[in-house]
Amino acid sequence: MKKAAAAVVVLAMLAFSAATDAKKPVAAKKPAAAKTPAPDAPAPDARRPVDAIVLAGQLITMDPSDRVIPSGAVAIADTRIVAIGTQEEIEKEYRTSQLIDRRGQVVMPGLVNSHTHAAMNLLRGISDDKPLMEWLEKSIFPAEGKNVSPAFVKAGTLLASLEMIRTGTTAFADMYYFESDVAEAVNQAGLRGVLGETWIDFPAPGHANLEETKTVSRAFAKRWKGHPRIVPAMAPHAPYTCSKETLLAAKAIADEFGLPLLIHLSETKDEQKTIQERYQMTPTRWLDSIGFLGANVLAAHAVWIDAEDMKVLAAKKVTAAHNPESNMKLASGIAPVPATRKAGIVVGLATDGAASNNDLDMFEAMDIAAKLAKVGSMDPTALPAKDVLRMATIEGARAIGLGSVTGSLEPGKAADLIAVDLSAPEYQPVYDLTSALVYTADGQAVTLTMVDGRVLYDGKSFPTLDQKKILAEAAEWRTKLAGQLSLPVPSFPAPAAPRPTEKKK
Ligand SMILES: [Zn+2]
Repeated sequence: MKKAAAAVVVLAMLAFSAATDAKKPVAAKKPAAAKTPAPDAPAPDARRPVDAIVLAGQLITMDPSDRVIPSGAVAIADTRIVAIGTQEEIEKEYRTSQLIDRRGQVVMPGLVNSHTHAAMNLLRGISDDKPLMEWLEKSIFPAEGKNVSPAFVKAGTLLASLEMIRTGTTAFADMYYFESDVAEAVNQAGLRGVLGETWIDFPAPGHANLEETKTVSRAFAKRWKGHPRIVPAMAPHAPYTCSKETLLAAKAIADEFGLPLLIHLSETKDEQKTIQERYQMTPTRWLDSIGFLGANVLAAHAVWIDAEDMKVLAAKKVTAAHNPESNMKLASGIAPVPATRKAGIVVGLATDGAASNNDLDMFEAMDIAAKLAKVGSMDPTALPAKDVLRMATIEGARAIGLGSVTGSLEPGKAADLIAVDLSAPEYQPVYDLTSALVYTADGQAVTLTMVDGRVLYDGKSFPTLDQKKILAEAAEWRTKLAGQLSLPVPSFPAPAAPRPTEKKK
C-alpha cells in the first residue's frame, strides 16, 4: 500500500517535471528546491486537465497512417480530441476526473451511416418481400401519407437514435419530411446528422407543392445552419420523382446556404428504363446535363451506374452511399462498389431506412457489404474487410461531407468514438481486429458511444434519451398504423405472476 502510494508520488513528480521541462526548463527546479514535501503529501499535479480520457485495449484510429495503438488512450477536452497515444504517454501529459476505462476492448471512430430515413424506424417490418415500386406505392407512401407529421418523425427519429447509439453509429445522413423536427430529435439524442429535407413531385406531408417545399426548406436551412452537430441539407428524392425544375430549385437553395444535396440515384433497373425513356440518357448523365451534379452531392445507391457514369460522378466529385442490405431486400441489384471506388468516387456505407433493411446496425452492414461484393463478382478478394471498415468510418464521413470533423481519431477532430467488447463467446477468439469487427461483431458488442465528447451510451444507459418513453411511443404508433392498415400484429401480454415451476431468486 505504502509502496504504491510512494510510486504514485514519484510518477506524479516525474510527470510534473517532464511537463514543465518542455515549456519552462528554469521553473522546473523551483518546486523541488522550495521544500521537501512530507512523504504522503500529494505532489502538485502539473499535467494538463482534460474533460475525459478513454483507455483502450486496442485503439483503432483510421488516421492517414492507419495507426492501431495497443494500450492506447484518447484525451478529450470539451468536444475535441486533444491527444492520442499510448496510455503511458497520455497519462503522463493529461489528467482528468472522467476516466473511461475500456482497457479490455477496442476503441475506434464512431460509425457513419451515410444514408437512412431515421423516422421510418416506426415502419420497421410493416411490409416486406415486395418489389421497390409496389412496396413504395402500396405500402410505404400510403402509410406515410396518413401518418407522417412532426410527432411521427420525432418519435421515429428518437427510436432510430436509440438504435444508432446502441449499435455504435455516431453520425448519419438522413432524408425525410419535417427535418426540422428530425433535427430536434437528433439534437436531443446528441448524435451528429446531415439532415435532408425531401423534395418530391407529388403532394407529400408538409409539401403540398413546390412553393411550399421551397418555403419549408428555406426555413429549415435558416434555423439549423451553423449548429455544431446538425448540418441541414436539401434532398430531392430521385431523378424519376423530381422534375428538372424541382432539382434545380433544391440545388439553388443548397448553393445559397452552402448545404449538401442528397439524392437517390440509379437504385433500380426500372429507374434506368424510366429515365432512358424520358430523357434518352442515364440518370447520372441527365443530372449532369441539367447542371445538378457537384461536390456537395451525395448519391444514395448508385447500383446501376456504368463506367461512363462513374467518370462523370468522379469528375464532379459526387460521393456515394452504398446500401447493401436494402439493395438485397428489394432486389434492386448489386452496386459495383469496387469499380466505383476505383474510379475515384468516395463511397460511404449505409443501412437505408429500417423499413427496407430492417435495422440500422452498421456492423451488419459492413459484414453484408463485403460478402455481397464477393458473391456479386464471384471473387472472394473483392471489397476486403479493411476497405469496408474505411467505408463505415473515414470514407463515410467524407461521403457525407464531414471528413474533416469525424470518421477518424485524430487530434483536433470531434471526439466521436465507440468501444467494442469482443470478449463474448460469439466473438472469440480474435486473430485479426478488422476481421473480427467486420465479419464477426454486431452492434450488441458496443459498450460506449460518444459524440462531441459526450457519452450517449455507457454500456447500460442512455444519458440523453428516455428509452422507456420512446419505446412506449413507438408501440402507440404501431397500434395506430396496424389499425389503419388492418394488420394482424402480434401481441405481447404483460407477464403474469411467475409459474409455480419457476424458481424465485
Ligand atoms: Zn433511401
